[in-house]
Amino acid sequence: MAQGRQPVLALDIGGTKLAAAVMTEDGALHGYTVEPTRREEGPDAIIPRLFALGRGAMDEARSAGLDDIAAVGVSCGGPLDATRGILTNPLHLPGWIGVPIVDLASREFGVAVALENDASAGALGEYRYGASQGEHTALYLTISTGIGGGAVIDGRLHRGAAGNGGEFGHIMVRPGGRECLCGRRGCLEAYASGTSIAARATDALARSSESSSLRDLERVTAADVSSAASHGDELATRIWDETTDVLSIAITDLVNVFEPDTVVLGGGVTRSGEALLGPVREAVLREAMRPAAAKVNLALTVLGDAVCVVGAGALAFDLAAEAAHV
Ligand SMILES: [Zn+2]
Repeated sequence: MAQGRQPVLALDIGGTKLAAAVMTEDGALHGYTVEPTRREEGPDAIIPRLFALGRGAMDEARSAGLDDIAAVGVSCGGPLDATRGILTNPLHLPGWIGVPIVDLASREFGVAVALENDASAGALGEYRYGASQGEHTALYLTISTGIGGGAVIDGRLHRGAAGNGGEFGHIMVRPGGRECLCGRRGCLEAYASGTSIAARATDALARSSESSSLRDLERVTAADVSSAASHGDELATRIWDETTDVLSIAITDLVNVFEPDTVVLGGGVTRSGEALLGPVREAVLREAMRPAAAKVNLALTVLGDAVCVVGAGALAFDLAAEAAHV
């Protein structure tokens, strides 16, 4: 084995996908497997499937000659209680109320288990192994079905009082604007998540009779809006411009507050690449306070779909190191 330290097991519980892998200290994933969550089945069916994925990854790692795992890291959407190891009531997993995931996983695998909000795990993953490696202060925003965020400040993951800090999706960008799932109006997530981009386009199509290539589609997605905008479709361009505008407002505030070295953007919507990042970067560098703007780098995720698994692995390594020092 190339690494001196024992590997760890990383588990990610998403609203659409479950993922598991054994990770070595260099960030390499072994037995990385993803399967649909099928969330309608509820926690009693899903958790055993997640653990079976973990067991499968461990079997593969063992047959590749790796040692047994030292710890487990679990990432999941919030709200959760990272300190007590409980999934309070994750928004993307209806019916998961008070699930003691850390206890369940430590009973299953017989080692210490850490739990983290998935976007915070993503921030740590990019910081240790991805786009913000080697920096001091790095933010991460995941822009997909919803918008999540996480912050590594002076080399330490910011957790907040119970592990729900970094909810960048709920920065207000349009006071009194569109309704958000959190109950407020005008949040970034209500405009720039994949779901909201599609919903704004669908609303705009319904409100006007303006011609648009989006009318030919049965169901509009954020990727359709981005693609139509890049082909000069006027309605799609307005929707896309508002998307980059609200993202720029939120990220400018974040840059002013944290003075980060790097802001990393990940999640499905960032597959649009420079069409998203280009205008956001330009506006943030123009609008942010001078010293912060001069320092910050805006980058796309390096870890892609594996970001939360890698982050959960990084978390497990931290837990194993803490245990070794006690
Ligand atoms: Zn909100």
